[in-house]
Amino acid sequence: MIEIVFATNNPNKLHEVQAQLPKGIKLISLKDIGCNEDIPETQNTIEGNAIQKVNYIKKKYNLDCFADDTGLEVEILNGEPGVYSARYAGPEKNADDNIQKLLYKLKDKANRKAQFKTVIAMHFRGKLITFEGICKGKITENVRGSGGFGYDPIFKPLGHSKTFAQLALYEKNKIGHRGQAVAQLIDFFEA
Ligand code: IMP
Repeated sequence: MIEIVFATNNPNKLHEVQAQLPKGIKLISLKDIGCNEDIPETQNTIEGNAIQKVNYIKKKYNLDCFADDTGLEVEILNGEPGVYSARYAGPEKNADDNIQKLLYKLKDKANRKAQFKTVIAMHFRGKLITFEGICKGKITENVRGSGGFGYDPIFKPLGHSKTFAQLALYEKNKIGHRGQAVAQLIDFFEA
């Protein structure tokens, strides 16, 4: 049995990752280790933020741990909101406001190509390892679906007619950015 801390305060991420992991990998939450603070994420790349988060936990608690950082990159906006996805519409990090801002910026735009990118950084047995997952798709014209979180209601993965918010969790995990990075993490443990 492998026990590892998942350094996230986001219950949606915890739920998604937990659903994907085999029984042999047990997640320990920040709550479990008594960590209640906001972990700093002040870097200007997704990878930099994932590494910053996991370094913070490793240094403070000296436990094996991993963290993910995710950004939505929209082609016609030169990769915006990218690393600023959480605070796109302001420091409140409000998902509805972020969605409305993005839909407004893409109003009347024909090119709606976008991708989600996740980087997982992990400290395990003295090593720092990263895994990356990318999911390509398009931004819809309107909000659709009530599942998922964040930008899920306006992101339609390539080859699908539904948004992430309309797909079942196992489907999102199979094709999604975080799901792909987690699959690599599982492969690492099972190799
Ligand atoms: P962070 O990785 O927690 O910093 O997330 C950055 C932003 O992307 C936040 O606004 C999240 O809500 C959003 N986000 C992260 N992962 C997903 C996802 O799987 N689907 C939709 N939005 C996401």
